[in-house]
Amino acid sequence: MSADPITKIVACNLCTGCGACAGAFPELIRMVDDPMNGRRPVVAATAEGRAAARDAVALCAGSASDWTTLDRADKIDDDWGPVLATWEGWATDDEIRHRGSSGGAVTALAAFALESGVAKGVAHIAARVDDPRLNEAVISRDRAALMRGAGSRYAQASPAETLGRIARSDEAVAFIGKPCDVASAHKAMRADSGLTDKIPLTIAIFCAGAPNLNATNNLLDRLGVPKGGKVVDLRYRGEGWPGLMQAEWVDDDGNRHTSDGIPYAEGWGRILQVERRWRCRVCADHTGAFADISVGDPWHNPPEGNTDAGRSLIVARTLRGRAFVEAAIAAGVLVTEARGRAVIAAAQPNLKATHGAVWGRRVAMRAVGLRAPRDRGLALFGMWRGLSLREKLQSFAGTWKRVIRERLWRRVVISGAAR
Ligand SMILES: Cc1cc2nc3c(=O)[nH]c(=O)nc-3n(C[C@H](O)[C@H](O)[C@H](O)COP(=O)(O)OP(=O)(O)OC[C@H]3O[C@@H](n4cnc5c(N)ncnc54)[C@H](O)[C@@H]3O)c2cc1C
Ligand code: SF4
Ligand code: SF4
Repeated sequence: MSADPITKIVACNLCTGCGACAGAFPELIRMVDDPMNGRRPVVAATAEGRAAARDAVALCAGSASDWTTLDRADKIDDDWGPVLATWEGWATDDEIRHRGSSGGAVTALAAFALESGVAKGVAHIAARVDDPRLNEAVISRDRAALMRGAGSRYAQASPAETLGRIARSDEAVAFIGKPCDVASAHKAMRADSGLTDKIPLTIAIFCAGAPNLNATNNLLDRLGVPKGGKVVDLRYRGEGWPGLMQAEWVDDDGNRHTSDGIPYAEGWGRILQVERRWRCRVCADHTGAFADISVGDPWHNPPEGNTDAGRSLIVARTLRGRAFVEAAIAAGVLVTEARGRAVIAAAQPNLKATHGAVWGRRVAMRAVGLRAPRDRGLALFGMWRGLSLREKLQSFAGTWKRVIRERLWRRVVISGAAR
């Protein structure tokens, strides 16, 4: 029997691990943390499971998204998705600013959504208490619960698993996720107007790629956490900008230890980014085009040390997103300075080059018979044309090398899935 459409999306490396399919059908589709392939859905091998998978495809932005639904007016919008207004700023609340990944803007905006009554809950991810190497999708209703999510987790996470819960409840819930998570939330909202009414705000964090569990284990090795040690805390960012990567663990005698902290540049550059999934390398939206608001690092104005006071780059993408940021500024929740819309390119030169390479990578995939994601209405070819000749050739040659090295023609089978 041929595989159901969700299992095929996983098998062909199109799944981003957002969790929307599993959240909609929790009895029939479950997310599994596969150390190599990432957090991916496994569909029950029954007629009901296959039927659920067929319905779930309508929520899946991993295989296809539709940019024609986005309001875009000029080249900046074409390159980055709608950019209505941009600010550099940080949370006024010192604890949120300190614990946040960059300037704590996301957590501050989420707390303001609760305080102002815009939302009764906020869907986001947090480290699992029983195993902080892994993440869980939660809906928080107060500041203390939101603080569990402050600081980026450079690991697999599936916040869109909450969409099913949101759809089944009567509460208004704001949604936070990576660009691919928000793209699936946006797709689910377009498919279900009832869900649109329940999600008053979406916030995306910028994202260059989500490493797998093997990468987290490699990081723990580098931090000197012994194999038998029970990890009780693991921080990738935060407690200053960009923050140190650091773990705490408990030994067999119950003694608690804190590892050395390593700089973000070393942890990301030498350990984590190597294990980004192939889907991330053909991702055409690293900055959250489908969100109301997106937030990243203002790398054009980098910190001098490892634990400086943080700053966030805040991008309003919709009218309601802009109105919400302006209300948060007026309420004294954020300290901000307005920036020109071109700041997004200045802050993320690596992501601009990546967007350009994606067209070549996808064409190279299709040329050897592999499926690639489809983003309707996104002019990737124009971005690719802006690359140097060397970069253009590299987008093809590099892809074919990876196809061979990573054997990308093989079906991805998730450990723990029935074969
Ligand atoms: C894997 C990854 C790659 C990133 N790559 C870039 C990049 O290339 N350029 C850049 O400018 N910024 C990148 N970021 C974003 C950046 O680290 C900050 O998240 C962003 O600046 C917001 O900071 P903040 O202090 O406002 O957010 P905070 O107040 O710290 O809040 C962060 C929010 O993000 C959520 N979150 C954390 N990790 C994840 C995750 N894995 N999946 C879904 N939601 C999550 C938390 O639940 C929390 O709500 C990346 C983040 C991640 C997780
Ligand atoms: S991208 Fe999301 S919705 Fe699509 S298969 Fe993966 S987890 Fe499911
Ligand atoms: S790079 Fe794209 S696909 Fe990968 S985790 Fe980030 S937003 Fe999702």
